[in-house]
Amino acid sequence: MEFHVAVIAGDGIGPEIIREARKVLDKVGSTFGHTFHYEDLLMGGASIDVNGVPLTDETIERAKAADAVLMGSIGGNTSTSPWYQLPPNLRPEAGLLKIRKELKLFANVRPAYLYEELKAACPLRDEIIGDGFDLVIMRELTGGLYFGERGTTEENGVLTAKDTLTYNENEIRRIAVRAFDIAGKRRKKVTSVDKANVLDSSRLWRKVVEEVAKDYPDITLEHMLVDNCAMQLVRDPKQFDVILTENMFGDILSDEASMVTGSIGMLSSASLNETKFGLYEPSHGSAPDIAGQDLANPIATILSAAMMLRYSFDLDQEADSVEAAVKQVLAEGYRTGDIYSNGCIKVGTTQMGDEIAKRIQK
Ligand code: NAD
Repeated sequence: MEFHVAVIAGDGIGPEIIREARKVLDKVGSTFGHTFHYEDLLMGGASIDVNGVPLTDETIERAKAADAVLMGSIGGNTSTSPWYQLPPNLRPEAGLLKIRKELKLFANVRPAYLYEELKAACPLRDEIIGDGFDLVIMRELTGGLYFGERGTTEENGVLTAKDTLTYNENEIRRIAVRAFDIAGKRRKKVTSVDKANVLDSSRLWRKVVEEVAKDYPDITLEHMLVDNCAMQLVRDPKQFDVILTENMFGDILSDEASMVTGSIGMLSSASLNETKFGLYEPSHGSAPDIAGQDLANPIATILSAAMMLRYSFDLDQEADSVEAAVKQVLAEGYRTGDIYSNGCIKVGTTQMGDEIAKRIQK
């Protein structure tokens, strides 16, 4: 099959980690008989330098025309880079917020997976970790408290600020469908997280999620209050498969979940819209402190490319082969500096990509 991938390498380590992800995708292509056509697009600082703005309308149109977008990361050193002397709407990050909005990416998927080999980086005790955990957080990305009506008023010298948390049933339904679809490709369990003992928006959330669940009889649904979920994530993360939740709860829980895996260089993410289209990027930033030195860990970007194969292209076997190659390389002791421990084989960005690509097989 043939796929058209828009590639936004971005800034800092972006071009290095994207180069390695493309290397691995090309190996998947030659092994399984697919062709990936790449189109390089500018965003963030790289676009500011050429176009004067972090994202052009033409780039948005080209991204929309692709089958999926694979991204490195954007941004520079926020204290020293001239990009941060610009007004906020012209800074690198403005491009990222705009592209998410323009592509209607309402569903953010962030896996938190603990590799057996990287257990030492996990801050939880051994008896809690057991033989590791593997969960994903499905966070609603374009509604709720961050997009509701807000304002600050002053009456009789007293300031009052207001934010509103609004969801309609359609917004809840479409993200719930995404969560159940993804659970169907995993261990078939959805934990819907809300605050239904207090919030009306959560009671509607729970009702709609239960309606959607009826279309997925083979998937187990459970509800959990958000305060309990925050606790359960560090008490027993193994109990979770897919956590489905609204925007703000997901913002907080996904950072908590990623922290318990221990390494930022390993964490992938996908932002999806109502079709098969998605934007795939590592969870980390552009790491300007290590850019251009062959020090960056490319695994988060390579695993994001695997998510693209699975969720946008329905290439499950190919995605499995990438994930298996990453596991194998770790099991054989290869480590970039960020995940290195004594006795392992220290490699740079390029060699890590080579080792993973070499192990892709049918
Ligand atoms: P960061 O994630 O770039 O870096 C934090 C620390 O983690 C640094 O020490 C860095 O060297 C290290 N690190 C990050 N990724 C790594 C990797 N793959 N391999 C090895 N080490 C890695 O966060 P920051 O320093 O706060 O931000 C730097 C820039 O990135 C800023 O301009 C910020 O706005 C931007 N940013 C972009 C995105 C995005 O593109 N989605 C996300 C977060 C931050």
